[in-house]
Amino acid sequence: MIFLITGAAGFLGSALANQLTREGHQVRGLDDLSTGDSKALSPDVHFTRGDVNDRPKLWTLLQEVDCVYHLAARVSVPESVLYPREYNAVNVGGTVSLMEAMRDVGVRRVVFISSGAIYGDQGEQPLRESMPPNPRSPYAVSKLAAEYYINTIGDLWNIETVSLRVFNAYGPGQHLPASHPPVVPYFLRQALHHGSLVVHSDGTQTRDYVYIDDVVSGMIAAATAPNIDGLVINIGSGKETSVRELVKTIQDITGNTAQALYNPKTPGGVSRMCADLSLAASRLGYHPSMSLSHGLRLTLQRDPRFGS
Ligand code: NAD
Repeated sequence: MIFLITGAAGFLGSALANQLTREGHQVRGLDDLSTGDSKALSPDVHFTRGDVNDRPKLWTLLQEVDCVYHLAARVSVPESVLYPREYNAVNVGGTVSLMEAMRDVGVRRVVFISSGAIYGDQGEQPLRESMPPNPRSPYAVSKLAAEYYINTIGDLWNIETVSLRVFNAYGPGQHLPASHPPVVPYFLRQALHHGSLVVHSDGTQTRDYVYIDDVVSGMIAAATAPNIDGLVINIGSGKETSVRELVKTIQDITGNTAQALYNPKTPGGVSRMCADLSLAASRLGYHPSMSLSHGLRLTLQRDPRFGS
């Protein structure tokens, strides 16, 4: 098959692109490199630097494509609280630009990488796709708006769509910016430098941490699974882990003994998150297999930034 991946130079996009080329597919990647790094891509990926709102570029890249994976996005919850206009322009505007270009060229299938952040705080866990969304940050609003656009426009223009609500993915190659870094690589780096792990809550908040190889397996299944048009499907580990448990697991693995510091909760944060995976199992044959402690060990082994 021929794929176009937007956001291909990012953490999830590059892992997906490299796996698809290993499986013998033709892969084109588009990324503006605002946070991504094209060096993460195998030489077999045909990479183009560009903006997901650049429609002429999209028209060229979409020729003869069987399926698009749409990952290009701004991805930080706290940053989105500061710059919602930017998040709207890239995450919503970029999605609409892509769908228009797909209609013009005649591409018939898109897998949109959405987010578990859409659920916000719900009364119960695990989180099921049938629950009403409750976005708590501009990032979550932008992913929900993009889901609605993809689904509605896809229906109108006869484009098959599926949105995967990915929970907290981690693994080698995750972007680690100076401000608002994702929690897993930030904790790993701090722990290896014998520093204190700084938590932006009292540590009781929970997340569903899912290893990148499991996410990639779900994304690949979504390109060809039958009868999933218009669905939203959770992709997580199905395990609920508190930040305190994450801290303890990372300290056990790295030997870090510094006292963890608990700060006030950041705006836009959600209290509990755990994915219900029934739909993913029945529609995609998705069965995540990686435990958190093994996934964290693999991250340390496989990511050269952690130097082991
Ligand atoms: P990432 O920042 O590594 O990847 C995003 C990529 O998009 C980057 O390479 C960036 O350069 C690119 N990009 C940003 N703006 C662009 C633009 N205007 N045009 C072209 N490219 C642009 O983050 P990631 O974790 O790999 O996330 C990938 C996708 O998965 C995103 O859509 C994100 O919302 C979604 N997601 C990620 C997680 C997670 O835990 N990592 C969880 C849920 C959803």
